[in-house]
Amino acid sequence: MSRYFSDKYADLEAYVPGEQPKDQHYIKLNTNENAFPPHPAVAKAVAEESGKLHLYSDPECRELREALAARLEVEPEELLMTNGSDEILNFAFMAFCDEYTPAVFPDITYGFYPVFAAVNRVPYREIPLEEDLTIDPEKYTQTAGTIFIANPNAPTGIALTRGQIEGILQSNPYNVVVVDEAYVDFGAESCIPLIREYENLLVTQTFSKSRSLAGGRLGFGAGNPELIRDLNTVKYSTNPYNVNRLTNAAALACLTNDEYYTENCRTIADTREWTAREMKRLGFELTPSSANFLFAVHPRIDGETFYREMKERGILIRHFSGARIREYNRISVGTREQMETFVRTAAAILES
Ligand SMILES: *Cc1c(COP(=O)(O)O)cnc(C)c1O
Repeated sequence: MSRYFSDKYADLEAYVPGEQPKDQHYIKLNTNENAFPPHPAVAKAVAEESGKLHLYSDPECRELREALAARLEVEPEELLMTNGSDEILNFAFMAFCDEYTPAVFPDITYGFYPVFAAVNRVPYREIPLEEDLTIDPEKYTQTAGTIFIANPNAPTGIALTRGQIEGILQSNPYNVVVVDEAYVDFGAESCIPLIREYENLLVTQTFSKSRSLAGGRLGFGAGNPELIRDLNTVKYSTNPYNVNRLTNAAALACLTNDEYYTENCRTIADTREWTAREMKRLGFELTPSSANFLFAVHPRIDGETFYREMKERGILIRHFSGARIREYNRISVGTREQMETFVRTAAAILES
């Protein structure tokens, strides 16, 4: 820390992203990226757009919002595009939390939430997951705070039903409920159809996981136009051109090739189920995942050792050091071939 760093950030602990090794020799199952590359139309669209990089991008993302709105059956005014969904989540902390309105989220969830709270200097309250790592929606009634729920949750992969989220929305009419649907396309129910009914609902999604665009950085929020206006006030006070031209062009190409992505999501869900079955055969215990990753523990090997042994054999998975989950590892679902290698390697580690 330099002597110029503001005291207000003296205790700030930044988010730590998963390892991104430079060499290609690892099978990368540690950051929940999509197993498949973008549709070929994306590269073409990006190449064409690059000739216009001397011009600012459209701060309103009008064309993109119209295309996405048609796909989601909402209005463009109900959408705000951001630089990854991390940005819309940060905007929500800025817009809807303060000293009197704390953020409320599970004790085990996306590791960025406490960091967003800290950097925006808002208090937060964590509600413990149940013994089986599920969320009990009953514990989120009248929280007097802005609720953040990842659905499916990370790193457990466990999803609430739309009906359960509705219960939370109904019991918190004075507070915003943010439903982070980063993984929804791999098998959970989206709450986007509820945005007209509940003015306190903000749904966030990302192109990073189901649309193979993690490196492009595109996310969005869906909610009633008033909420979106508030978030736009924050956006225009920080970075009006938050979505760059290349990403915008890439996303439009994604949306015109939607079947490709839907098919890939289905393949990944099938591969997830195959991998889960094989892992159970090896003695792993897994949470029921609706996402593109598995969360697993083995009674005979501790989480850290399994992570290290995997890395030594060229496979990166994600280990977390939090007290309740340190025996677990999170394994992104790759291609069938990658997962066959993973299962074979896991068997070899357990044997040795
Ligand atoms: C990956 C992820 C995000 C955001 O990812 P972006 O790449 O910034 O869109 C948000 N929430 C959860 C739970 C995630 O796993």
